[in-house]
Amino acid sequence: MNAADDKTIVKEYFNSTGFDRWRRIYGNGEVNKVQLDIRNGHQQTVDTVLSWLKADNNLAELSICDAGCGVGSLSIPLAAGGAKVYASDISEKMVEEAKERASQTLENPGNLTLAVQDLETLSGDYHTVICLDVLIHYPQDKADEMISHLCSLAQSRVILSFAPKTFGLSILKKIGSFFPGASKATRAYLHRETDVVKILEKNGFSVQRQAMTRTRFYFSRLLEATRK
Ligand code: SAM
Repeated sequence: MNAADDKTIVKEYFNSTGFDRWRRIYGNGEVNKVQLDIRNGHQQTVDTVLSWLKADNNLAELSICDAGCGVGSLSIPLAAGGAKVYASDISEKMVEEAKERASQTLENPGNLTLAVQDLETLSGDYHTVICLDVLIHYPQDKADEMISHLCSLAQSRVILSFAPKTFGLSILKKIGSFFPGASKATRAYLHRETDVVKILEKNGFSVQRQAMTRTRFYFSRLLEATRK
């Protein structure tokens, strides 16, 4: 399968069965045990990013690009905290849901712009570019291109998460359960941390903070890299 196919499949998935599944996982309604585990794991990743940014004490001064924002799990609290957030996603349905959630919870909606756009076509200049749990949908060569493009949009900092390859094939099987039934056509790709760091370095960034979220069914390595 080539990268273009991956992208088409991912887009279709997150506009159909994937949307229903992930909207529930990234919500607070009733879900099954596996989904609850993934919800909690993902929330830990989001909370880690929020804690890093809040610790810097300058959220209100930041312009942030959230690439592949999903239903706004990170974008909405960042905007609520005062950052100017440009959030986009390849899936119309995810963006619609993010807009709905923002309209219900955000008291300062002017801080958040939501758009349907794939991250490869993003342009502009942001203090910080964030891309959480998106690279898992793409093979390494495509992920390299995506990371390089995200770096080109960032004045100071890139924050990325990915499923690390170090945990091996047994984990790959578990991640496979992210995509049940027919939607299993959507593959989960693991990435070697050394490959991700290499591409960040090549683009002039070095890793500052790192974290790992590991629950039973959710694995996400989080890296913050700043311009050298
Ligand atoms: N970043 C969000 C979060 O952590 O809450 C959502 C993560 S979800 C597992 C992956 C998201 O990436 C989906 O909403 C999907 O539509 C989006 N996506 C996948 N490929 C993309 C691409 N090439 N450009 C933009 N968004 C993409």
